[in-house]
Amino acid sequence: MRVHLINPSSVSFGTAVITPRWQYVLAAATPSCFGDPILVDETLSQVDPERIEKGDAVGIGIHTANALRGYEIGKIAREREAHVIFGGIHATLFPEEAMELGGAHAVVKGDGDVVWAIALSDCLNGRPKPVYTGGQIEASNFVAARWDLVPRNRYMWASVQTVRGCPKHCSFCSVWRTDGQRPRQRTSDVVIEEIVQLRRLGFRFIALADDNFYPVTLTDLDLALRQNNPQRLNELKQMRAERFELMARLAQLPEDTVFFTQITMEAAEDTEFLDAMSAAHIKGALVGVESVTPEGLKDVYKDFNSAGQNLIERLRTFKRHGVHVLGSFIFGLPSDRPETFDMTAAAAISAELTFAQFVTLSPYPGTVDFTRWEKTLGPNPPTIAGVPLTRRWRIPQALRPKLYWDHPVMSAEEIRSRTQSVWDKFYGWRPIWKRSGFIKSSRGRLAFVLISRIYRHMYADTGIATDSARVTWSGRWTRWMAKPCRRLFAGRPMPDLAVPSLRVDLPVAVDL
Ligand code: SF4
Repeated sequence: MRVHLINPSSVSFGTAVITPRWQYVLAAATPSCFGDPILVDETLSQVDPERIEKGDAVGIGIHTANALRGYEIGKIAREREAHVIFGGIHATLFPEEAMELGGAHAVVKGDGDVVWAIALSDCLNGRPKPVYTGGQIEASNFVAARWDLVPRNRYMWASVQTVRGCPKHCSFCSVWRTDGQRPRQRTSDVVIEEIVQLRRLGFRFIALADDNFYPVTLTDLDLALRQNNPQRLNELKQMRAERFELMARLAQLPEDTVFFTQITMEAAEDTEFLDAMSAAHIKGALVGVESVTPEGLKDVYKDFNSAGQNLIERLRTFKRHGVHVLGSFIFGLPSDRPETFDMTAAAAISAELTFAQFVTLSPYPGTVDFTRWEKTLGPNPPTIAGVPLTRRWRIPQALRPKLYWDHPVMSAEEIRSRTQSVWDKFYGWRPIWKRSGFIKSSRGRLAFVLISRIYRHMYADTGIATDSARVTWSGRWTRWMAKPCRRLFAGRPMPDLAVPSLRVDLPVAVDL
């Protein structure tokens, strides 16, 4: 029985931005008696059905955006008499759908690190169970990825996870419900081992694919202190100390190493943390700004964010402490008005964001928004091409609506075109060139311009773009630019790189 791990995608570029980490984790979780799994990432190239043989086990990881393509692959694998196992966020939320539409024999719900080996062994015995509940395992049980299997020259970024789960509860996000609100943090030993392995291979750009890299805020510590809860306070201090410990070890890596992560805006209150990030080569972070107005933040349960001038100051703080920000904004919130778009574009530029993304509000399965939206449509929701609107990811792409909620004052078309114009404003050639001013070398500035354009065009393919002609053009442009861009990211292999040691002079407490 051979094991296949397939990352579905309807479009392949030959080169991809980021390694699909789950494939390399499940490869490591595959018992050695099955040999090395066959990894297929369809963002590179499409699966070859001929390679799937009777009795093989085929693992397919899906999220909502690639579920339809995943189901196509599942049916092909089932026709070839393989054992079909689905996993990932979407299969966790809709296991029955993977069975009905994707030919699944089994679905792994939650973390696959531990249950994957059990599912494979049951397949070998010809008796896979319909559901394997992986749940939310402790960080000590997270499996380190098998990077020896990665095709080094086809990815720009590698991905390593340091913490799973997020204590917040944003209405549009499923992370806190699927990964939990208790941050599960890996020790610095296992994280640094993986990172050094990647640097030895020649990856110098590494995404810290965390739900929230700043799981303990100063406000959390202050609250535990005021509640006179010493146990909680110690737990939080310990977690914070472990973050600093990891960052101190990352700081010992070669100077040209670049990390990128996700973080909440609250980190701006904690300049000691930002300085440690910068020293640790964490040069950039995605910050969910969502909205520039207090009403918009209320709409998405994110009132811990700032609005107005305070927002701009907070975002600038990141950059002043050496951390570039990719700001993420949502349009189509009930409180948005036509003037919100220009205000947002102006705030993104004034806050000195290095990159920005502007998405329209969509109800994602597993979120509070989705549950609320599903309820409003009642037991008999409208259908498109025979698919209920509440299962929108099954509607063929070309027929999918651009917006799922009626907005109080704007049409879907108005929201779409205004969103598009904010993208165009932020990613015009002139503003990009101006933003690249922080880079000294002209080669570096050129790289920045290319990356900004490729980022903008890749997004054009994910529902933000206007019409199919624009999407097709974007696809071509991205394919054309992807290879030279990848070369800009490549590093020199460092086979002799040593694992940075653990320093003993780290802060373990915080003065409040
Ligand atoms: S959007 Fe970010 S901060 Fe909010 S719950 Fe999700 S991961 Fe946490």
